[in-house]
Amino acid sequence: MAFSGLDIYKLLPKTNCRECGFATCLAFAMQLAKKAVSIDKCPYLSPEAKKVLESSSLPPIKLITIGTGEQKLEIGNESVMFRHEEKFHRPCGLGFVIDDSLTDSEIKDKLARIAKLSFERVGQKLDVNLVALKQVKDAKRFTEAVKLVSGLTTLPIGLISEDSTALKDALITLKDKRALIYRATKENFTQIAPLAKEFKATLVASAPDLNSLSTLTQELNKLGIEEIMLDTGNKTISEKIWDLTQIRRLALKKSNRSLGFPAITLINKADPYEEAMEAASYICKYSGIILLRNIEAWQTLALLTLRQNIYTDPQKPLQIEPKLYPIGATNDKSPVLITTNFSLSYFTVLGEVEASKVPTYILSVDTEGMSVLTAWAAEKFTPDKISDTVNKLGVKETVSHNRLIIPGYVAMMSGELEEKSGWQIIVGPKEASGIPSFLRNL
Ligand code: SF4
Repeated sequence: MAFSGLDIYKLLPKTNCRECGFATCLAFAMQLAKKAVSIDKCPYLSPEAKKVLESSSLPPIKLITIGTGEQKLEIGNESVMFRHEEKFHRPCGLGFVIDDSLTDSEIKDKLARIAKLSFERVGQKLDVNLVALKQVKDAKRFTEAVKLVSGLTTLPIGLISEDSTALKDALITLKDKRALIYRATKENFTQIAPLAKEFKATLVASAPDLNSLSTLTQELNKLGIEEIMLDTGNKTISEKIWDLTQIRRLALKKSNRSLGFPAITLINKADPYEEAMEAASYICKYSGIILLRNIEAWQTLALLTLRQNIYTDPQKPLQIEPKLYPIGATNDKSPVLITTNFSLSYFTVLGEVEASKVPTYILSVDTEGMSVLTAWAAEKFTPDKISDTVNKLGVKETVSHNRLIIPGYVAMMSGELEEKSGWQIIVGPKEASGIPSFLRNL
């Protein structure tokens, strides 16, 4: 729970000794409430007060790490219910379930298809995050399959099994790869928790309702398990959304530490369309990891695109570096198209220029990430700004002609821009879709 300045003051020694650098304990308390100073600055805090203050400054939803290296998955640490309040910080992980009952070659084929699920959109790389192996056969086959998977993927690995013998063998195979174990229930947690602790794995606590789930995480905490994810089992979409929302609300608004962990959802739908729709709901609210059965590029791209949108900062548009970008085999006679540094504008123009097959320069002007019309209305895309950018980014030194093409929506500035820049201004199409025919006929 976040404490007010007065709450904190009650826990301080109240001697006003000034050793923390503040004139009074109250002044220090006020700064502490704003998180502007650290509690270590006061050397006279009692151990009890220190413990209370330290726990109040912990994030309401714990940060969980699965896997190691560059592809490790970090989830949790969220601080708001709605992205417009601040932003969502850590994109939910998207993973795939593979059964150990498949043959080795079928497993290899699935892993090869998962490895291809990497996309680029508006300058960002979109990747999937996890492979989860499900035990269907005996412990021996499970361990064999885990060995096979861990040799062929660098993605973090999840182990879906409630058999502690099978899990132990699998965890020995994965050594210190920080796997995810699905799942501990009230019936088996005393056997599975020691494994999670020994192998530093994240443990999914699973119970059908929030009260039992809260009790289970407290039991796990008592056994020294801190890396926990939450699961409420197989339910309808509306029941699941209710659970996920209540978990988030109780952690953030009621400071319920026993539910202050990211949640995981397993979708078990044969139809990839139904599966995609369900996964989309959980991306929006509020799953930390979503595990799918189908491995389809169209489905994954749609979900990763949604995730990218949900997890961008709504107050900061995606931007690219303001620069003169050569597209294709440009030379000094290539046309120069002007747009803004709003990622979506740039990449839309880029796609159409590439489709035209006409080598072209795209000059992106720094408009603080605003699109053409918004930037023009906000006076960030003005003749002065464009002229400065043309000079600064060396357009004159790059091309031998004197023509610049501006978006059709800002045709009204062509006269003034021509005067200010000394370049001949050509008004391009209003919509990016008109660029290919415009360039070919230029
Ligand atoms: S060091 Fe501690 S006791 Fe001294 S003024 Fe600062 S808060 Fe108060």
